[in-house]
Amino acid sequence: MFDYYFNDDHKLFRRSLRDFFDKEVMPFIDEWEAQQQIPKEIWKKMGDMGYLGLNFPESVGGTDLDFFYSVIFAEEVSKCYSGGFAISPLVNSYMAAPYIFKYGSEFQKEKYVKPAVAGDQICSIAISEPGAGSDVANIQTKAIKNGDHYIVNGSKTFITNAYYGDFIVTVLKTNPEEGIGGVSLLIIDRNAEGVSARKLNKLGWHASDTAELSFDNVKVPVENLIGEEGMGFYYLMGGLQLERLIGAIMGVGACESAMSYTLKYMSERQAFNRPINKFQVLRHRMAQLATEVEINKAFAYHCAKLHAQGEYIVKECSMAKLNSTELSDKLMYQCLQSFGGYGFMEDYKIARMFRDSRVGTIGGGSSEIMREIIAKIVIDGQEYE
Ligand SMILES: Cc1cc2nc3c(=O)[nH]c(=O)nc-3n(C[C@H](O)[C@H](O)[C@H](O)COP(=O)(O)OP(=O)(O)OC[C@H]3O[C@@H](n4cnc5c(N)ncnc54)[C@H](O)[C@@H]3O)c2cc1C
Repeated sequence: MFDYYFNDDHKLFRRSLRDFFDKEVMPFIDEWEAQQQIPKEIWKKMGDMGYLGLNFPESVGGTDLDFFYSVIFAEEVSKCYSGGFAISPLVNSYMAAPYIFKYGSEFQKEKYVKPAVAGDQICSIAISEPGAGSDVANIQTKAIKNGDHYIVNGSKTFITNAYYGDFIVTVLKTNPEEGIGGVSLLIIDRNAEGVSARKLNKLGWHASDTAELSFDNVKVPVENLIGEEGMGFYYLMGGLQLERLIGAIMGVGACESAMSYTLKYMSERQAFNRPINKFQVLRHRMAQLATEVEINKAFAYHCAKLHAQGEYIVKECSMAKLNSTELSDKLMYQCLQSFGGYGFMEDYKIARMFRDSRVGTIGGGSSEIMREIIAKIVIDGQEYE
């Protein structure tokens, strides 16, 4: 059924991408998880292969391929048994750099998007603050214009790719008196004077780099403003749909990966003189999960198709993210159960998949916020343009 979305070139791409991950990532992933960092070299290798620029045109070093190549990338990177590895390039290429490409100047594309696509520099997006996560309009970080630069003060937290990364698409207020109308996006160099970072310890996503950032009178040139002052919130509303769609596709990949890992174990593990996949209760559990994964995937692909057609699909992206991340959590819990005590051991990848899945319903807009958005659309008749 899914052949409808993928032609022979897509399939060839998936195979070569899988070979790349099997060779360049899978043998090292446990080490990167333990080190809580992925090496710079893997960024460069992904950049050289064109994997960081699938959704960018050739003018910035991208490959300008249709969106289903990105779908394949998001799925396959999520099958490397490390949510922390998966999220790193996805933030760079789908959640942060697109703001610069879509709304930024030629200078910014040259200076920031090109190296992010090449794997030479790493990009992050800083929205969340210690006092404002879901409530984005309430952010307090300020950029006050002073001649040819802004002076930035404030802090951000939970920022992926921001400890070892190179530059930060920072959401802040250029007009602190206003609500959403005062929000702007500014590119801040990670090593600029006055920027400090603290690496955060996490329940999961160990291979990813998550930082708390402080801005203490950071001088940022005005040429680093993305688009227009005061338009940041509107830019975000567009970009967050792609972020949520990618989050949904990550869920699809992670679920499929956990399913096949668990089914293999169930075919090998014996109890009461038979493989445990012969027990009806476990068979039905996996049959139910397989059904839900398939339905979830069909809806995620449907959303990807609408997105590829240029439609602004707030309701669908919110539903896809909500459903996929909630399903992932349920599935990881139930798959781990099939491993018995071994599921609780670090030697088995299901333990990591279980804890990595947990952040899915929190980051990029929590499940509660997704339900709020959906409720406003289906109950109150709110429209997004
Ligand atoms: C590992 C990790 C990586 C992250 N990466 C990034 C990143 O790269 N960039 C970035 O900007 N942020 C990032 N985040 C932050 C993430 O987006 C926020 O954690 C998320 O938006 C929730 O914000 P919060 O943590 O402040 O929770 P809060 O907003 O304080 O919410 C707390 C609880 O209240 C609920 N709640 C809040 N408002 C409502 C409401 N109106 N109705 C019902 N319930 C509500 C929430 O759903 C949640 O359950 C990351 C987070 C994590 C854990």
